[in-house]
Amino acid sequence: MPPVRTLGQLLEDEHLLTWIRDAVGGLHAYAAAGAEKQGKRLAMAVTCTGCTAKKTCCHSKVVARLYEGILVASDLVAAGRDTPELREQLRAAAEAMETTPPRDWRRPCVFLDERERCTVYAVRPVPCGAVLVYTNPTLCTTRAAPIKAYIPNEEYAAATAFEEQFRERFALRKKVGRRYLGVLPRMVLVALEAWHRTDFRDYLRQLSWPSDEDIEQQRA
Ligand code: SF4
Ligand code: SF4
Repeated sequence: MPPVRTLGQLLEDEHLLTWIRDAVGGLHAYAAAGAEKQGKRLAMAVTCTGCTAKKTCCHSKVVARLYEGILVASDLVAAGRDTPELREQLRAAAEAMETTPPRDWRRPCVFLDERERCTVYAVRPVPCGAVLVYTNPTLCTTRAAPIKAYIPNEEYAAATAFEEQFRERFALRKKVGRRYLGVLPRMVLVALEAWHRTDFRDYLRQLSWPSDEDIEQQRA
């Protein structure tokens, strides 16, 4: 009989956090290199690196994969930030985000601090690290002129491919036509709620996961 372990114990025993962290970090690096390469072709520099403007990109709807939520949750657990107050904030943000179209969502991310800094920067999901623009940072807020952005299609395809490996390693059977992803606060909350459960696979499987069509609607 394999040992009965909580999600947190499984992650630690099998060094799965390092594996996820390397995959997500690798995609951040790939996006940064890709954006720089494209910038050279366009004779434009990526402006996010030195951005001191209001982080409007962190006031947007972020759809993340469960493994990215697990990575953020691991950081919160390790830093003693998994509190009832934070879970309530995540729950409220998730419910609001799930019922608001992306174009109407203009609220700060739960992880953005008062200085407009990401408090989970090292473990932020791929969609956060792949938002890279070439235009003046103030345009991200004012929209006074078109924004020129890097399109991370390859990174998103690789992140989706990694989801297959993630389910394999975690013995999470795929629900037919469904994907383990959702809005970022929901994915982090789900990961925190699963963290100390030995029945975390049953808990995760019984949740309502979206189909590819649902995902397109969430992003529309
Ligand atoms: S996307 Fe815009 S607001 Fe966000 S870091 Fe880049 S330049 Fe700044
Ligand atoms: S996780 Fe960090 S980078 Fe992503 S939206 Fe939130 S504050 Fe911004």
